[in-house]
Amino acid sequence: MDTIYDVIVVGGGPAGATAAYFLGKAGRRVLVIEKATQPRYKACGGGLSLSFLESQFPFSFDSIIETDVEAITYVLDEHSVTIPLPTSEMRMVMRDRFDAYLLAQAQAEVWQGVAVRKVTETPGCVSVETSDGRTATGILLIGADGANSVVAQAVGLRRGKALAAAIEVEVFPEVMDRFASNPVFIFGEVRHGYLWIFPKASHLSVGIAALHPKPGELQVTLRRVMSRNAISLDGFQMHGHPIPLYTGREAITTRRVLLASDAAGLADPFSGEGIRLAITSGRLAAEAILANRPEQYEKMIFRQIGFSQWCGLGLSWLFYHFQMVCFIFGAHNPFVTRAFINLLSGRVGYPTVVIRIFATLPLFLLSEGLIQLAGLVGGPKKRRWLRTRIYPA
Ligand SMILES: Cc1cc2nc3c(=O)[nH]c(=O)nc-3n(C[C@H](O)[C@H](O)[C@H](O)COP(=O)(O)OP(=O)(O)OC[C@H]3O[C@@H](n4cnc5c(N)ncnc54)[C@H](O)[C@@H]3O)c2cc1C
Repeated sequence: MDTIYDVIVVGGGPAGATAAYFLGKAGRRVLVIEKATQPRYKACGGGLSLSFLESQFPFSFDSIIETDVEAITYVLDEHSVTIPLPTSEMRMVMRDRFDAYLLAQAQAEVWQGVAVRKVTETPGCVSVETSDGRTATGILLIGADGANSVVAQAVGLRRGKALAAAIEVEVFPEVMDRFASNPVFIFGEVRHGYLWIFPKASHLSVGIAALHPKPGELQVTLRRVMSRNAISLDGFQMHGHPIPLYTGREAITTRRVLLASDAAGLADPFSGEGIRLAITSGRLAAEAILANRPEQYEKMIFRQIGFSQWCGLGLSWLFYHFQMVCFIFGAHNPFVTRAFINLLSGRVGYPTVVIRIFATLPLFLLSEGLIQLAGLVGGPKKRRWLRTRIYPA
C-alpha cells in the first residue's frame, strides 16, 4: 500500500525546510517535494540575523556563513551614513548553500528535481501529482513553494496578491574591497524601493527592489547606480523575482493546506526581507500541526507576523513619502538601527520599532546637539570620542 504521509511539504526553501525540520524532529512522517536539486540558485541578497538563526535552531550555521557584517551604510542622494553593528548580529549567506544546509537537517523523505503540478484536496486527505508522474498522499500539506506558489493557485488561495519586484546580480568587481563587511543600502533612486550592495566571501550581490516599478525601470536604474559605484554589470546575469506582500485580509489556509512564507506573501513590506519570516512561518505551521490545531495557523500568523506587517506597511508609506526627513532622523539615528536589528533578530515587531523611532527622537536630537558642541569646543577628535561613548556599537 502507498505511504500516507502526515505532512507533505511542497518547496524545500527555508520555509519548507524549517517546517520539515520541526515536524520530523517530533517524529511525524514528512515528505518534502522540491522542484530544483539543492544546492540551487535563489535570487536573494542573503542578509540575515545570526542571533535569529541561533534562537530558532540548535545547530550551528558557521560553515555556510559568507561574511560577518561590521557596519551598514545608508545612502540618499549626496548624504551617506555608516553605522557600526554589534559583532554577533548580521551575516551574509548565499542561498544555494544556506537552503541546502537547512534542508539537510530535516528528518524527512525528500524528492528533489520534481515539481508538484496538481494538488487535490478531499475531506480526508490531500494528494499531489508531480512532474515525473508520481503521486503522494498526506493528511496535511504545507505550501512553501515560493512567490509563484502552485499550491496557492491549485487550492484557490491568494488570488488578489500584491507584489513588489526585485532583481539580483552576482558580480565580481575590482572594487570588492571597498564593500567588505559593509553592506550598502541606496535610497532615492527608484520610487518605493531601494538598491543594495551586499559583500559575500569572494563577490558582491547587488540588487534593486520596488513596489509596482515601470517596465524596464529596475534594470536601467540598477545599471546606472552600480556604474556610479564603479560596479559594471556587463556580462553578469540579472535574476528577476517577485516579492509578495501580505495584506492580512486574505485566507492562507484551507482545511488541509497551510501556506507559509512567500507562498502566503509574508515578505517584509518595508525591506522585502523574507528569510526570517520564512523560518518563522515554517515553524508556526509545524507547531500548529503538532498541536493538532492546523486551523489555528492563520490566527497564529496574524498575531505573530500579520499585525507587525501592517505597522511595517505604514512605516514604509511614511518613509517613501518623506524620504529626506526620515533619512536624517532615521538613518543617522543609531537607536533606529538598533530597533531594526532587534526586528531582524525576531526580538521585536514593527509596533515596537515605530514606538522606538518616535520615542528616541528627543534623545537622538539631544545627543547630536552635545556631539556637535563637543566638536566645536574640542575638534573632530572630541566629537568622535563622544559619539562612541553615546552610541557604543
Ligand atoms: C532579489 C531578492 C533579494 C532578497 N534579499 C533578501 C535578503 O537579503 N534577506 C532576506 O531575508 N530575504 C531576502 N529576500 C526574500 C527571500 O528571498 C524570500 O522571502 C525567501 O526566499 C522565501 O522563502 P520560501 O521558502 O518561502 O521560498 P523560496 O526560497 O522561494 O523557496 C521555494 C522553493 O519551492 C520550490 N518550488 C517552487 N515551485 C515548486 C513546485 N511546483 N513543486 C516543488 N517545489 C517547488 C522552489 O524551487 C524553491 O526551492 C529577497 C528576495 C528577492 C527576490
